[in-house]
Amino acid sequence: MNNNFVPCEQNGCSGGWIKVFSGQTEGGRLVDENTGAAKPCQCLLDYRAGNVSLRPAYSRFGKGYNDRDMLWLYHRLTLRKKLVGNQPLTKADYESLLDELDARRGGPPEWRQS
Ligand SMILES: [Zn+2]
Repeated sequence: MNNNFVPCEQNGCSGGWIKVFSGQTEGGRLVDENTGAAKPCQCLLDYRAGNVSLRPAYSRFGKGYNDRDMLWLYHRLTLRKKLVGNQPLTKADYESLLDELDARRGGPPEWRQS
């Protein structure tokens, strides 16, 4: 198994496993109700079966700002810090920075289009 697996971490899932205290183990043995057992979550079963679709958390992957955008933003924030110190960004500052960035990169990423 490679490390691309992303567990859902929902409904008791932890790293693709769910602790149970009844029923049968994956190997077919009866689960000890005192010690319990770990059963594979549906997300792990899907992963093993190769049915892994992009999870919601990754639906923007490759569609957002890239490393060049981040570098530009970093330089702008560094410059700003020299000019105004540690004064926090207001929402308007933030939006205007992103507008400027969007103009440079030829348009906003999909998630920022209204
Ligand atoms: Zn899961």
